[in-house]
Amino acid sequence: MAITNDNCSCGAKVVVFTGDDVKHTSFLCDGFQVICAEDLNTEKANYYSLFRCSECGEPTAEAVPTVVNFLHPTFIGKNHGDA
Ligand SMILES: [Zn+2]
Repeated sequence: MAITNDNCSCGAKVVVFTGDDVKHTSFLCDGFQVICAEDLNTEKANYYSLFRCSECGEPTAEAVPTVVNFLHPTFIGKNHGDA
């Protein structure tokens, strides 16, 4: 699906893989994988997914917009276009 550069709410740079771009089959069941931006293009990118931000400790599912939108797509523009 996508490889997205994003930031945690604290400003830490992360990269989010979704769908077919998830690096490791372990994370396919979640449908997404989050890594530190500095680990992109390294071996490490294949073997972990951040459950919590390495900087602030917030859950990535709550603090990284790409992950929030992935998990809660109906929240996007929920009221957009309402009369
Ligand atoms: Zn953070």
